[in-house]
Amino acid sequence: MIKTLKFGGTSVGSAANMRRVAGIIVSEGARLTVLSAMSGTTDALVKISTAAKTGDNDTAKATLAMLREKYTTCITELLSTHRDAALDCMEGALATIANELFTYRGEVSDKLILAQGELLTSAIFCYHMQELGHRAVLLTSPEFMHTDPEGKPDTARLAQELKSRVTDTDPDIYYIAQGFICTDSAGHISNLGRGGSDYSAALMGVAIGSDEVQIWTDIDGMHNNDPRVVENTFPIRRMSFDEAAELAYFGAKILHPLTIQPCKEAGINVRLKNSMEPEAEGTLISADEDNAMDFHAVAAKDGITVVRITSARMLMAYGFLRKVFEVFEKYKTPVDMITTSEVEVSLTIDSTCHLEEIIRDLTPFCTAEVVHDNTIVCIVGCIDAHHPGLAARIFEGLKEIPIQMISYGANHRSMAILVATQYKKQTLQALNDHLFHCTSAQ
Ligand code: ADP
Ligand code: ASP
Ligand code: MG
Repeated sequence: MIKTLKFGGTSVGSAANMRRVAGIIVSEGARLTVLSAMSGTTDALVKISTAAKTGDNDTAKATLAMLREKYTTCITELLSTHRDAALDCMEGALATIANELFTYRGEVSDKLILAQGELLTSAIFCYHMQELGHRAVLLTSPEFMHTDPEGKPDTARLAQELKSRVTDTDPDIYYIAQGFICTDSAGHISNLGRGGSDYSAALMGVAIGSDEVQIWTDIDGMHNNDPRVVENTFPIRRMSFDEAAELAYFGAKILHPLTIQPCKEAGINVRLKNSMEPEAEGTLISADEDNAMDFHAVAAKDGITVVRITSARMLMAYGFLRKVFEVFEKYKTPVDMITTSEVEVSLTIDSTCHLEEIIRDLTPFCTAEVVHDNTIVCIVGCIDAHHPGLAARIFEGLKEIPIQMISYGANHRSMAILVATQYKKQTLQALNDHLFHCTSAQ
């Protein structure tokens, strides 16, 4: 069985954790291992680059020094024969960052700076595998992960280039690659967005023809609700691709929103596992639908802006919605939720980069009102429209909460509601108490 395993920042966050990861990939017999940067690295690199750009060189230098200490500690604790080589590698990465920020006079590349975390972490880990006596090969992901001008990965090129590196002829080799980073259409180092290592692993797992992609993190699988916000959540043992994709898209941080799609298309199961507790069962995501339960999970996505569009011209008219959506299309702004009435259409967006232009283009033919700081709460399950009482059960617990929008689609798999972000915690907890309180771990 060919397996691609991905480990997130906490999983490789210290020498002790890296040792545990080495044990897991050997016992799983991973063909390809995709790594994030040690926890806190990417945040620190963002901070360094932002500080340096605003002239706050003290903060930038202090944060660089913190990173040097963190990585030196890890290298010293983990490595012996390859210690000096790893320390040189670290100095090289830190010099690249410093040169970009303090010496180079051209346009600073944040992406080049951010990439150093994954490059350095994967190099240290590969040295560790070699010191353990394994045949480990370090790959450089930007050599085979390329994106087009829209930021979309070139999967055909990835398959071709990765397959030529990860060969079947020697199954004893452990291939180690960086998640997150890639090369953009201009040939510069770039990335797939924050949290993008999950997506990298899915794409690479599909590219080498894996039978399973495993996402190893710091929690025992996908929980029924956001464990950072709500008490008494529990892991879901099995879920369908569509449910997992919906939850990831609507804020379940355990998975980057784009992770599931490539695996679903290729029919490759995704397993979520806890690297701190490898024997825990985790979650298996596959094509199988589980219709036994009405409600499976809840997720929430913050930073949502509502645009309320009103026009008397909408009454009994056709073509109005097309005009509205053309404006959003023009500015490449995805729309998440939509509700309509006779003279109003409300929709939500999470990117406000082009909001000003969008409003300007809408105003000649309608009135547009904008409300920021909202949260979409998505309830996923077998919410069958023919099954009376399900909507009532959802809203039973939400009597005290002002609900801005409700969307219930044709797939009968999910219902989304929009609340002001100040009501997010109350909403998630109320749904947990009402929809899951008598359900124990499945
Ligand atoms: P990694 O660094 O391994 O990619 P992340 O921090 O990105 O890990 O994702 C794991 C975290 O996702 C968990 O620690 C948990 O707090 C959070 N999380 C949010 N929603 C869920 C959920 N529904 N199920 C499990 N974890 C969730
Ligand atoms: N290191 C990157 C981040 O923190 C990518 C990832 O962890 O998936 O966003
Ligand atoms: Mg993550």
